[in-house]
Amino acid sequence: MQPYMCGITKEKAGPGLTYRTDLPVPQINDDEVLIKVHVTAICGTDVHIYDWDPWSACRVVPPMIVGHETAGDVVAIGRNVTQVQVGDRVSVETHIPCNHCYFCQHDHKEICQHVALFGCTQDGAFAEYAKVRADSVFKLDDGLTYEQGCMFEPMGAGVHGVEAAEVAGKTVLISGCGPIGLTAITASKVFGATKVIACDLFDEKLEIAKEMGADAVINSASYDLVAEVHKLTDDLGVDAAIDITGAGAAINNSLRSVRSGGRLVCVGLPSKPVTMNLTEDLIYREVEMTGVSGRLIWRTWEDFSKVMKDPRYHMELIMGHRFLMKDFEQAFAEIRSGVPGKMMLYPKVIE
Ligand SMILES: [Zn+2]
Ligand SMILES: [Zn+2]
Repeated sequence: MQPYMCGITKEKAGPGLTYRTDLPVPQINDDEVLIKVHVTAICGTDVHIYDWDPWSACRVVPPMIVGHETAGDVVAIGRNVTQVQVGDRVSVETHIPCNHCYFCQHDHKEICQHVALFGCTQDGAFAEYAKVRADSVFKLDDGLTYEQGCMFEPMGAGVHGVEAAEVAGKTVLISGCGPIGLTAITASKVFGATKVIACDLFDEKLEIAKEMGADAVINSASYDLVAEVHKLTDDLGVDAAIDITGAGAAINNSLRSVRSGGRLVCVGLPSKPVTMNLTEDLIYREVEMTGVSGRLIWRTWEDFSKVMKDPRYHMELIMGHRFLMKDFEQAFAEIRSGVPGKMMLYPKVIE
């Protein structure tokens, strides 16, 4: 194998990323696998790391290889690895659990107390090769493309939200119709929601929401969301709402759109504390409210595999443009200018 590879690194504390062609190919230990990267998508987190915001500055230790939403082929395995073989097509769970803490021992690896982050606290996958602990890779079956493999990590939180909402037989409101919200819409339909109502501030996004399976859409900039939801639900409100927006006003609207005794699941991350009327909107109405973080390992991945294979899940509406890693600046510029869809980076050839 060649000794050097290309990749995108954070060279030093401060803004910017660097494309290099002289990176050593990672050496694996007995518990790790080496992946030949096919494609890695750009995450909002990568933009934060590029910008060197306070979140990144206290987690990322340069120099390191960034990127984490990846898929590729296993080309080498460590001596202790039994669950994965050379030649397997895989994707990677970004949250690498410690396997020892209280939460890891109690089936909640997604909220591990000592979690390591692939492509953030350790080298990632904007590169020709990436290494990771073998129990953090997910095998892609033949029904899934590499590009779909890249979607598990970013969109998985939406599927996790649907799991937490227990949507089967329920009416569901999805607030926010970006890629994660669109994924939650299809997932809700696949997992048996009787009626999925989607809301957003932009009509173009609501048109896409219909294509992804929404039964009704509401523009919450033009209409009173709570009143419209009541019209669609025999004046009860929805059984469950899933907030993808993380916006305080939207979360409050979702809470008030849930029927008494219903459930609100928060997926989107508010950037500042949110004020709520808990007495009127939650306590008197016995509404449950919960949050989800990351993906259940591996339940969310298995559930999402089913969603991605459903004809209602239109990957082409989720994906953005394709670039070579050397042209990463152009891809980041498109994200900053608001070009929709996940931008995909290929190490050397786009195929
Ligand atoms: Zn991500
Ligand atoms: Zn742990």
